[in-house]
Amino acid sequence: MPDDPRGFQTRALHAAPRGASLGGGLELSTTFRWDDVDHGASFAAEVAPPRFYRRLGAPNAASLEARVAALEGAERAVAVGSGMAACTLALMAALPEGGHVVCARTVYGEVSNFLRGLAPRMGITASVAEGWEVDDFARAMRPETRAVFVECPANPTLDLVDLVAVSSLARSRGALTLVDATLATPYNCRPIELGCDVVVHSATKYLGGHSDAMGGVIAGSAGFVEAAWHLLRVLGPVMSPFDAWLIDRGVRTLGLRMARINESAERVAAFLDAHPGVESVRYPSLPGHPAHAWARAQHRGFGGLLSVVPRGGVEGARRFVESLSLFALATSLGGVESLAQFPASMARLSDEDRARLGIPAAMVRLSVGCEDADDLVDDLARALSGS
Ligand code: PLP
Repeated sequence: MPDDPRGFQTRALHAAPRGASLGGGLELSTTFRWDDVDHGASFAAEVAPPRFYRRLGAPNAASLEARVAALEGAERAVAVGSGMAACTLALMAALPEGGHVVCARTVYGEVSNFLRGLAPRMGITASVAEGWEVDDFARAMRPETRAVFVECPANPTLDLVDLVAVSSLARSRGALTLVDATLATPYNCRPIELGCDVVVHSATKYLGGHSDAMGGVIAGSAGFVEAAWHLLRVLGPVMSPFDAWLIDRGVRTLGLRMARINESAERVAAFLDAHPGVESVRYPSLPGHPAHAWARAQHRGFGGLLSVVPRGGVEGARRFVESLSLFALATSLGGVESLAQFPASMARLSDEDRARLGIPAAMVRLSVGCEDADDLVDDLARALSGS
């Protein structure tokens, strides 16, 4: 429903198909009884039929798909088994054999691995835009470019792409713009309203929001989603009903969580930025961020992820993350509990690649959750003082 005038939380709560049960039943069946042959045939002819065979579609996934499409202002959405499945299926749906994609400098590592390792086997080639300006994307484009893929905000560097400028450039060259909006969520930014064509999410993060479900979503035009769904039915990375049920429940409170997370993360970023024990902080609300001047024109807020370099080098950063107590030392992001991660200690990146991507060796990534901001700031202050 691209033109739904209702507010974000109203749509989050009322956009799914209406059933008698407000809680939404969990439907595990892999197959469904039809009244007669024509009834079965009518489901077989549908895209993502909710009551045919579970690899093709399922009721809990259908509810989540309707909710995410409404929140993104997309014609349609399809749920898949992980954020990676959303990224790879969307890229494959966008790119014909011989197609070329321009990829932003920082995208999720496995997306780069897909573009480097697997996509060439399908005749797909990729180039990286060497910076974040629209001219950097223009320089990387070729006559055979059919897609531009960006992550916005980018994880973990928090870089932002001007989605209006980049999507308009892509359109003028006959290419689709695909946005991994996992960090933004539709609460903060709706790329389709800014001219982009396709949005993908790791629903494992903010959409689910409770670190207990894995999934992905692709949203876009009905035609694009149908193309992605045809790949899904052949390749098979479907979302399980229980994950769909959990994520669909999570999305119902997305606006409440994101409002709080935006506010707390801004507070945490400002605190860290002013702290003498901190060398640098990356978060778009801070005046030093490269997109600070225009970021609010495209984003309502900037979500819970921020990166910080404490003083004291790699050892200082290690002591800092290990001294935190409310921020759990764990991977992932976007859950209600705050997390801290030390990317240099786990990413399979060479020092050279890390430097090229703008990830300092001593950078710590924080995912701000829904605890009280005062307590989060106290935790950070204690860890920075070394006590
Ligand atoms: N996109 C982004 C921005 C991510 O942070 C992640 C995972 O961390 C993914 C995609 C992949 O999602 P998943 O782990 O659900 O496959």
